[in-house]
Amino acid sequence: MSRAWTPLLPGATLGVVGGGQLGRMFTLAARVMGYKVVVLDPDPNSPAGQVADTHLKADYTDAVALLRMGSLCDAVTTEFENVPAQSMEMLARHCPVAPSAAALAVAQDRLEEKTHARASGCETAPFANIEPESDLDAAWDQVGAPALLKTRRLGYDGKGQARVNSRAELADAFARLGRVPCLLEGFLPLEREVSVVLARNAKDEIAFFPVAENQHRHGILDISIVPARIEEGLAERARDMAAHLARELDYVGVMAVEFFVLQDGRIVFNEMAPRPHNSGHYTLDACATDQFQQQVRALCDLPLGDPRLLSPVVMVNLLGDVWAPEPRWDALLKHPGVQLHLYGKAEARPGRKMGHYNCLAPTLEEALALAMKTRASLGIG
Ligand code: AMP
Repeated sequence: MSRAWTPLLPGATLGVVGGGQLGRMFTLAARVMGYKVVVLDPDPNSPAGQVADTHLKADYTDAVALLRMGSLCDAVTTEFENVPAQSMEMLARHCPVAPSAAALAVAQDRLEEKTHARASGCETAPFANIEPESDLDAAWDQVGAPALLKTRRLGYDGKGQARVNSRAELADAFARLGRVPCLLEGFLPLEREVSVVLARNAKDEIAFFPVAENQHRHGILDISIVPARIEEGLAERARDMAAHLARELDYVGVMAVEFFVLQDGRIVFNEMAPRPHNSGHYTLDACATDQFQQQVRALCDLPLGDPRLLSPVVMVNLLGDVWAPEPRWDALLKHPGVQLHLYGKAEARPGRKMGHYNCLAPTLEEALALAMKTRASLGIG
């Protein structure tokens, strides 16, 4: 159904495909604003299902559940990029869906994503597509050492990728990754990693959250430092590139774009997420409007909120690794600048995102010091 973009006002029913923590924070934001929320997720204890008005406990491809969702909802969004495009298309026959299945399809495939980014004027790492093994020589000649081999689909948090330093290592890594379609990417000398989270509505209004500087551990986001410690000119360039991408995709919703800042000062597109992002969780406590309220506003074709940063902030991710036993949250919360967010996941597993906390302070140095001190006391790092 093509959307007649009239604002959906509080009282309407919004749907979210996927019941993880991003869906949970969307659901909470929507309910605070007076919307009803339907979550589709097969897990009976899903983080978003726990806080929804209605939880449809079914697979994302279940035609009956999708029909029910389409008939209950006035608009539907998603919290993850790997929703089958067919499901979004089915939903779109019943109610407006944003982001579109076409935008999701681009974000699902690293080749599409990087090709699209280049076409929208972003610099990327050198890359070559690899499908049959006979492509390996050509890809290796094109990219060379050092390189990273990444699966085109379903890679996240550093999974589905391998460092390769020779043609022989490339063949081994391709076999280990299951000979699925891959991208061979030049390994770049990174100075730091940053991300831009933006919201765009159907009237082409765009609101940018401040650029976040992201540090990873074992391929998973560890902390985000905001504002990012980069020159304003670079931040401007990152925002411009992200806006270009969003417009080229006619993207409606919240979108995150990750960039590398290279040692020679260049800024290079890495990947995009068609949804709110872990590196935007700082907005929950440090911005006038947070990324989930912005997602509600964009989906409902409302004016976007003020994304202004109200305080320097450092976000710290809480992975299941620190749950042995569950930390004493009172010890963390004795610091008044700490704001804790837990996702309601019953089982803590290593690497599983269980929650995060934001450290707010009058200066970025103090916010960083608070983050480092509290991380150490939780045994992170
Ligand atoms: P990705 O799944 O593409 O976000 O990659 C996970 C992490 O690997 C990134 O956050 C970077 O730290 C690192 N990485 C990915 N691609 C490159 C690259 N082309 N050069 C250097 N480091 C990279």
